[in-house]
Amino acid sequence: MKSSEVLGLLKRRFPNEPEYHQAVEEVVESIEDVYNEHPEFEKANLIERLVIPDKIHTFRVTWVDDKGNVQTNMGYRVQHNNAIGPYKGGIRFHASVSPSILKFLAFEQTFKNALTTLPMGGAKGGSDFSPRGKSDGEVMRFCQAFVEGLWKVIGPNTDVPAGDIGVGGREVGYMFGKYKKLAEEFTGTFTGKGREFGGSLIRPEATGYGNVYFLLEMLKTKNIDIKGKKCLVSGAGNVAQYTCEKLLELGAIPVTLSDSDGYIYDSDGITKEKLEFVMELKNLYRGRIREYAEEYGCKYVPGARPWCEKGDIALPSATQNEIDQADAETLVRNGVLAVSEGANMPSTPEAIAVFQRSKILYAPGKAANAGGVSVSGLEMTQNSERYSWSAEEVDEKLKWIMGNIHENCVKYGTESDGYINYVKGANIAGFMKVAKAMMSQGIL
Ligand code: NDP
Repeated sequence: MKSSEVLGLLKRRFPNEPEYHQAVEEVVESIEDVYNEHPEFEKANLIERLVIPDKIHTFRVTWVDDKGNVQTNMGYRVQHNNAIGPYKGGIRFHASVSPSILKFLAFEQTFKNALTTLPMGGAKGGSDFSPRGKSDGEVMRFCQAFVEGLWKVIGPNTDVPAGDIGVGGREVGYMFGKYKKLAEEFTGTFTGKGREFGGSLIRPEATGYGNVYFLLEMLKTKNIDIKGKKCLVSGAGNVAQYTCEKLLELGAIPVTLSDSDGYIYDSDGITKEKLEFVMELKNLYRGRIREYAEEYGCKYVPGARPWCEKGDIALPSATQNEIDQADAETLVRNGVLAVSEGANMPSTPEAIAVFQRSKILYAPGKAANAGGVSVSGLEMTQNSERYSWSAEEVDEKLKWIMGNIHENCVKYGTESDGYINYVKGANIAGFMKVAKAMMSQGIL
């Protein structure tokens, strides 16, 4: 297998899907040598079967807004690979959603889920619907219409969706309710549900907490203490909020947050009380991060990202490609020690090259943000058992899983000079598990 040939084929077959090409390129480049040590993989054309999704479901979503106007959006579910378990991955509602973005996310999810040690395949879905500025009633009607297009291809043993950008507890609740009605059964077909109807404790916190647990493991390899470290966090949603919460608990100092309009820099640090303000602002009032600066009198920069600020650690937690080469160079020049990705693919390939050349600690999302789907997997287990575990039990398991992912990255990613290439480590560890399962199951 030659990674350039695989890429060429994908670009010819699926033109105009840059995010999908970007995600595949990063993986095939790092697994090329290992893949070629196994001639049986090539004989089974494993690579093409691994990079092309099993199925893509596309449907129109029709709903009525508060003014009585009939609106349409597109709905998708990309079921990428179910070699090691039922399809599993979030639903994203954002104006930018396209088949390319969902194919990149579902592809990444397959490797991430393999890393968690839990039996979950990879999928992702969503719509170009933007919940921003929509009333609660509009969001509910949209979610219900979306599930009408989706419900027949999901199920507790088939495909289990969860949240992602624009999809939190509220949206999962509406989708679960509609699914339950259509399927005429109460099963754990969605994760990230409310606690009253099968949601796991620690699921909302899991991605942010898990990212910080992974960061701690990375810092340990260099004997760096997180206490007192200034942290640049982007985003202000689920992942960013719980990243800040865990950082604060450990004595680190988050100083930035952002949304799609701009970022805030609080030189005094975002305290527990200020974080509570952000949670209320974003989760209840659905306001803008600019209002934080108005409340606390700190710096707000519209239309920009926080990477030009000085910090010891960067935790990108908003969206894909939010750190480009220039941002990465600025971060490194400003002495950043570690970058741990809460978001999926937030760094461009050029930015990753800068981090790796500088030999700083750098963890890709598919390893560092796997805590969310891990606790989703634990939610599936609890739902199957019709039982629920305590927050402490779930948190312990989450810590164990993140430690295990870190160990696997070290095992497969340590280079001859001792530098841990977490990208390579995560890709090879995830790939080997999925590849072995596919080989055992025959040509499908
Ligand atoms: P939320 O919708 O809760 O928050 C997303 C945040 O990112 C918001 O502040 C949003 O701002 C900002 N944002 C979204 N799109 C853009 C953009 N194009 N440019 C700048 N800012 C943007 O999502 P999550 O916190 O759940 O997800 C954040 C990231 O983490 C995503 O990459 C997601 O795939 C990843 N992730 C999430 C998991 C989870 O469990 N939720 C699990 C693993 C990964 P605004 O409000 O202005 O849109």
